[in-house]
Parts: sequence; C-alpha cells; structure tokens
Amino acid sequence: MLAGRIESLRKSETQEINDRAKQLMRDGQDVIDLGAGDPSFQEPKVARAAGIDAIKTGFTGYTEAGGIIKLREAIGQRYQKVFGLDPSDDSILVTAGAKAGLFEIMQLLLEEGDQVILPRPYYPSYPAQVRLSRGEPVFARGAPQNHYLPSVSEIEEKVTPRTKVILINSPGNPTGGVYNTEQGEEIINLARSEDLFVISDECYDGFTYQQDRFWTQVSSGYTKGFTVGSTSKIFAMTGWRVGYVIGRAKYMTELEKIQSHFTSSPSSISQKAAQAAFAHELSLSESIRHEFKRKRDLLAQELNKVSGIDCPIPPGAFYLFPDVRDLLLEVGLDESGDSQFTRVLLEKSGVVTIPGSAFGMPGYLRIAYLPSVVVLEDAVDRIKLAIEQW
Ligand code: PLP
Repeated sequence: MLAGRIESLRKSETQEINDRAKQLMRDGQDVIDLGAGDPSFQEPKVARAAGIDAIKTGFTGYTEAGGIIKLREAIGQRYQKVFGLDPSDDSILVTAGAKAGLFEIMQLLLEEGDQVILPRPYYPSYPAQVRLSRGEPVFARGAPQNHYLPSVSEIEEKVTPRTKVILINSPGNPTGGVYNTEQGEEIINLARSEDLFVISDECYDGFTYQQDRFWTQVSSGYTKGFTVGSTSKIFAMTGWRVGYVIGRAKYMTELEKIQSHFTSSPSSISQKAAQAAFAHELSLSESIRHEFKRKRDLLAQELNKVSGIDCPIPPGAFYLFPDVRDLLLEVGLDESGDSQFTRVLLEKSGVVTIPGSAFGMPGYLRIAYLPSVVVLEDAVDRIKLAIEQW
C-alpha cells in the first residue's frame, strides 16, 4: 500500500490538458498553447555557451550542496544592483529550481498538522507540497481589486494557534497580482507579531509592469523570512532547473543539509549557465518586459470585448485570469463548468487554456500571453468563434 499522504495528490489538471494538447499536435492539429508557464523567449546566449563550456571542460561533477560560491555571489549582487539591497546578513542557497527550494523549506519547517496559510487561487504545487510535508494548507483569498492576493487582514483572519507559516506569491501565479511595499511590510509585521515564518515566492520578480519598485521580502530583513527566486522565468531557463532561497544563515545551513540528502546539489552544468546569465543580465531584459506589457494589454482588451468575459489587467507575471462565470451561465453551466469550457476551447479551436479550478478558483481561466502578438490575435479570433459555436 502506498503512503496515505500520496492519496491526496492528484495528477494536475494542467498536466492533463497539456497531455491532450500534445496528442492533438501529434494528430496534426494546429494548437496554440496559452496554457504552459514556459517563457517563449530564449535563455541568454551566454548561458547556453557557459553550459556547453562546462561540459567541454569537464565541470560535470557534484558541487557544494548549496551551490557554487560564484553563483551565490552573483545572486547576492543581483539584489544589490537591481533592488539596491544588501543581503549580507543572509545566506543564499542554490536549488534545483524554485520548486525544490520550496519543498525543502516545507521539510525544514513543518511538523504533522502545522498550518500554512496559502493564497487562493494558488500555484498548485503549494498545497501539494504542504500535504506531502504533513502540514495542512489553509487558504486566504484576496479581493478582486488586488487580483485576489490576500491582504494582511485576510491573512490574519486565518491565523490559528496551529499556524506556522504564511506563504505569499508576488507577482502571483495565476492572477498576476503584485504586492506593493506597504502591503508587503504589513504582512511581515503580522508575521513578526505572531512569530510566524514567511515564505515569499518571487519567481516572477522581473515581470512587473505598473510599479517602479518591486517589493521583495529581502528588503524587510525579517529573520524568519525565506525568499525564493528562480532563473526559470526571468531568463527562460525552465529546463536548466536553477532556483535559489535567501534567508538567515542558520536556516540555510539546515536547508543545505536537507538538500545534500535530496538532490545532492543542483546540476553543475546548469549552475555555470546560471552564473553566466546573472553576470550578463541580472534580470528580465527591458525589451522583453515591454513586449510582454504590450501583449498583456492587447489580449485583455480583445477578451473584454467578448460578452460574459471580464478580464482585469494584472500588474505582473505573464498571465491573465479572466472571470468567465457569466459566460458559463449563458450556456447553462455553473462555475465548475470552467474545465468543460477549456476542453471545448481546445477541441473546437485548438487553443490551450487552464481552468481556474486547477488553482482552487473555479469560474476563471488562466491564459499565458507568451506567444507573439500575431499568434495571440489568431488565438482570440479562434476563441471568439468557438464561443459563438458553443
Ligand atoms: N513558483 C511559481 C509561482 C511558479 O509559477 C513556478 C513555475 O511555474 C515555480 C514556483 C517553479 O519554478 P521553478 O521552475 O524554478 O521550479
């Protein structure tokens, strides 16, 4: 018999839709993928070259469990140069993607039944990782005007004597909401007064379109804070699997122990590639950010023309999260019809989208505006047609 905690895991709905999309592609259908969160631009050329060089020169063995020193230094410099911060009170641990970092933090902090306050809608791995670590997810939903990111009072309402961790995600997946400095500081102050840990997932930190300054938890200096970042989104290096965690040295030493028994270390080759990427660019390039903003605006504007779809313009990440509940009502479905709607869109128009229910929020869609403007325009035309024929 398998471990009981595995039974609470489902194959992700995202995965099921992606599998079906791949099958349609194999059958020769022209599919437009607005489902996956894999950036459409290429990783920096210097990263590729450094990876190749690592292989050629034989830098292919185990590394320090917490990552090579030069890469950790490069990440520290990123925080100095991009955010004007000095994370020298903290240590940096390089991980095999942000996801591994998040999981290791859960392993470090959670005991049976400890509660973790999560945003809802959520990145699906959060509740799964909490449960795998024997914790209990507790969800806090924010207001629509804050793109559903929970405010300090919405989080505070969920605090119980069993709460151990608050997890925040800004810029957020799936809604694209972003905390400003005041909101971020308020949450840290709550954590301080309740003596809670905070995990701040900031993987999309380069993807902000409305604010001059992005609030990162590192700026708070909170001693019980863990800040998680990644090369996956800002450098489009999803397959290289390099992320990092920033936090107090005493916790990072413990995380490093966990990592040494888990992944041993991130891939040596990938670390060299990531080091080269940070040395070259520090963050998402300005031209790509501009292009994303243009695509966001265009797609939202077009979707808002469709009766029954309400698509706010989010300030961050690269997703739209339109409310399609009225549209579902028009065809006689309640909000749980969002999965059926994404299947109809895929079968009738070849456009892949993800239902909000995959993120704990039925009645919505997550749409990644990663392809080119031309492809996005084609996608909107197809979506409109599929809805008309539905
Ligand atoms: N956190 C969020 C909010 C994400 O959306 C993702 C990937 O989609 C991750 C973490 C995982 O990132 P990585 O590829 O670095 O493991």
